[in-house]
Amino acid sequence: MTAPAKPATAPDAAYRTWIDHTTACATCRAGALCLTAVRLGRVWRKTRRR
Ligand SMILES: [Zn+2]
Repeated sequence: MTAPAKPATAPDAAYRTWIDHTTACATCRAGALCLTAVRLGRVWRKTRRR
């Protein structure tokens, strides 16, 4: 079975990266402002733009 290769810029991948971070990052889990989360969210928004 061959899985479809997803480009790193796909909205799905960017969203997943962001979610993965927020669930693993102590700062994000505490509800504090995390620059990494902000950056990842920005990247995700960019990929969503059509
Ligand atoms: Zn974070």
